[in-house]
Amino acid sequence: MARAAVLGRLSWRIATVVAIRDETPTARTLVLDVPGWPGHAAGQHVDVRLTAPDGYSTQRSYSIASAPDGERIELTVVVIPDGEVSPYLTEVLQKGDQLELRGPIGGWFVWLPGPDDPVFLVAGGSGLVPLMAMIRTRAAIGSQVPFRLAYSARDTGSLLYRDELEDRARDGLAVTYVFTRTAPPGAARPAGRIDASLLAEASWPPDCAPAVFVCGPTGFVEAAANLLVDMGHPPDRIKTERFGPSGGTSEETTGGSP
Ligand SMILES: Cc1cc2nc3c(=O)[nH]c(=O)nc-3n(C[C@H](O)[C@H](O)[C@H](O)COP(=O)(O)OP(=O)(O)OC[C@H]3O[C@@H](n4cnc5c(N)ncnc54)[C@H](O)[C@@H]3O)c2cc1C
Repeated sequence: MARAAVLGRLSWRIATVVAIRDETPTARTLVLDVPGWPGHAAGQHVDVRLTAPDGYSTQRSYSIASAPDGERIELTVVVIPDGEVSPYLTEVLQKGDQLELRGPIGGWFVWLPGPDDPVFLVAGGSGLVPLMAMIRTRAAIGSQVPFRLAYSARDTGSLLYRDELEDRARDGLAVTYVFTRTAPPGAARPAGRIDASLLAEASWPPDCAPAVFVCGPTGFVEAAANLLVDMGHPPDRIKTERFGPSGGTSEETTGGSP
C-alpha cells in the first residue's frame, strides 16, 4: 500500500495550464489541473519535466504555492535570466498547454495543522512560495495558530502576492518586510540584509518555541538560520529549504550540514 503511494507520487503526470497570473514583471503563477493528483501538504514541491522535440529532457523543482484543492495546484516561478527552464515557464507557456510533473515531494519541510505552536516564516525572494502555501492552508482551514512572516525582497516591485499579503495582514498575519536593494519611502528601515534585530522584531522569542521555516537562496537560508540559532532558537525547531542553483539540496533542519 505504502509502496503504491510512493510509486504514485514518483510517476510523471500530465498537467494542463488552466490559468496564468502575473505576480511581478518577472514572476508568474501557473494554475494547473493534474488528473489523479493525490493531494499535498503545505511546503511540498513537484518536479517539472520539459522535453524538446529532439528528445532532450530536463527537470527542475517547484514548490506548490496553493493550499490543498482537489486536483488543482499552483506554482509560482520567478525567472532566472539565461536559465534553461524558468524563462520557458514564465514567458512561453500558455493557458491550455501541458507539462509533465511528479509529486508531491518532501515530507519534512511541511506545516501540518495540529499543534498550536506559533509559526515563524522567513522568506528570501521566491522562497516565499512554499511558505505562502502554509499561510493559505492556515486560512483555508480557519486555523487560529499564530503566524508571523519576515519577507526579504529586492524592492516593492519584486514582492510576490503583494495584495494578498496585505489582506492576510488585516486578518492577523504579522508581516515584516526587508528590502535588499531599494526600500520604499517611509519604510521602517533602510535597504539592507536580514539581521538579528530584524528577526527579533519579526518573530517570537525562543522561549515561545515557535516552529520556524526558512526558505530562499542558499546564502540567505544559511545566514537566517545561523542568526536564529545565535538568538537561541533550537536547531531542531528550524526547518530550511534552499533554492540554490544546484537544486540538489532540498530540506533539512539546521542540525544537518549547512
Ligand atoms: C525544492 C525546490 C523548490 C523550488 N521552488 C521554486 C519555486 O517555487 N519558484 C521558483 O521560481 N524557483 C524554485 N526553485 C528553483 C528552481 O528549481 C530552478 O532552480 C530555477 O527556476 C532556475 O532554473 P532554470 O532552469 O531557469 O536555471 P538554470 O538553467 O538551472 O540556471 C541558470 C543560471 O542561474 C543560476 N541559478 C539557478 N537557479 C537559481 C536560483 N534559484 N537562484 C539563483 N540562481 C540560480 C545557475 O547557477 C545558472 O548560473 C526551487 C528549487 C528547489 C530545489
